[in-house]
Amino acid sequence: MARGGSPGLVADELEVQASWFGGEYGRVFTGTEGERIEVVQFGHWNRGAGPDFTEAAVKVNGELRRGSIEVDLDVRNWDRHGHAGNAAFNDTVLHVFIDQPALSRVFTRTQSHGNVVQLLLPQYSGLLGPPDFLPEAFPGRCLAPLARMEVAEVESLLLAAAQYRLRRKGERLHVMAGATSGEQALFQAVAEALGFRHNKTAMAILAQRCPVRELLEMAPGDREARLFGAAGFLEAALTEPPRTPEARTYRRELWDHWWTMRPEVETIPRRSIRWRSDSTRPLNHPQRRLGALATLLGHWERLLELWEKPVNNFPKVVNNWSKSLSHPFWNRHYSLASEATPKPFRLLGKDRLRDLLGNVVFPEAIRVSPERWVGYARLGGVDSNQKLRRAVLRLFGTDRERQKLFTRYYHQQQGLLQIYDDFCLEDASDCRECPFPEQLLQWRRMSHSVSHLGSTLNAGRIV
Ligand code: SF4
Repeated sequence: MARGGSPGLVADELEVQASWFGGEYGRVFTGTEGERIEVVQFGHWNRGAGPDFTEAAVKVNGELRRGSIEVDLDVRNWDRHGHAGNAAFNDTVLHVFIDQPALSRVFTRTQSHGNVVQLLLPQYSGLLGPPDFLPEAFPGRCLAPLARMEVAEVESLLLAAAQYRLRRKGERLHVMAGATSGEQALFQAVAEALGFRHNKTAMAILAQRCPVRELLEMAPGDREARLFGAAGFLEAALTEPPRTPEARTYRRELWDHWWTMRPEVETIPRRSIRWRSDSTRPLNHPQRRLGALATLLGHWERLLELWEKPVNNFPKVVNNWSKSLSHPFWNRHYSLASEATPKPFRLLGKDRLRDLLGNVVFPEAIRVSPERWVGYARLGGVDSNQKLRRAVLRLFGTDRERQKLFTRYYHQQQGLLQIYDDFCLEDASDCRECPFPEQLLQWRRMSHSVSHLGSTLNAGRIV
């Protein structure tokens, strides 16, 4: 089944908007009427009613148009949501969507009878793929051919898949940098890495609504309040009384700064960011992760130096750098409403640090200097998570020895996740129609050469 066609995968409007604004779809397109569309300025997230992005600039067949951009899941939402009769949408210069009816043409008209240029995007940005969901956990049909492969062959397969995944991450950062700036793309990627799986999009939106250059120009207290206020955490905390004197003081300090900027930053409820704190360990509570991001901004220049200065041992340097990240409140609290922990915890634990290295630092560093791959290949694996456990069960069954052997390193885990994303997430037949097992057999018949095996993995699929 083609990517994006898998059952149960419904894109979320906020995710599409975040991918669009982050530049993941690119900035040059062909409109539904064949127009050449170039986004000159993505504009700003709208905080109030009206189109999603304001003060944008778009070239249509070379003609510059300034106004707003509306991003919907379906072209028909323009009418369904009453935008056609709403004067606030009259300055819309581009209507972006990811779905439209197959048999009828739907136009985008404004109240002032303007015909808005339309752009149909692919269902997913291509750089990020479909949203996560977890297919059933059971040993897959590929288990038998994989069990027959020698250790070196499986290693080579995972290595090739990991290299592909890493290259895509580097490309994503590069494309996003083209739409915004290298520094803003990096900031969003760092925020996403801290958001982990459940709050990745929420962190991306927050990073887009609080641009890094604006944050860096603020005093630390203002910066922290801007992040927590824009996230919606300060309003939400009002319903829960603080449990410790430190929490009372910290929240009062944040509010003291937030009051002054609130009218300029706060969004209407419909546009508020949705956070998830269920299914996450207390140490990974999104408020604590945001505390880490705010702290990290105080050490931002040192993070940037990692790319600017030649560094021989990235993991060690980044680890040392992360040890210096400390916050009087967040070292000992899980959330704005939690009790204090008996002992302090590092703001960036081992796994978050490895994800920061694996998802942000190395992809960009290897894109610029491919020889850094050697350092990446030595990076140890993170603690298993649900997605990785499912991938391992599907590919290696209950063979504990192979499970352990092929998840020791970060790149092996990433290779497994790439196969899982490209085959398991695409499969809608309980493995019956998945091409991976046959392609593995075909490989082995064609050649037993390990290098051949590695080189035939292309785009997560074996060709
Ligand atoms: S969907 Fe394909 S790759 Fe995934 S477990 Fe089944 S056979 Fe293996």
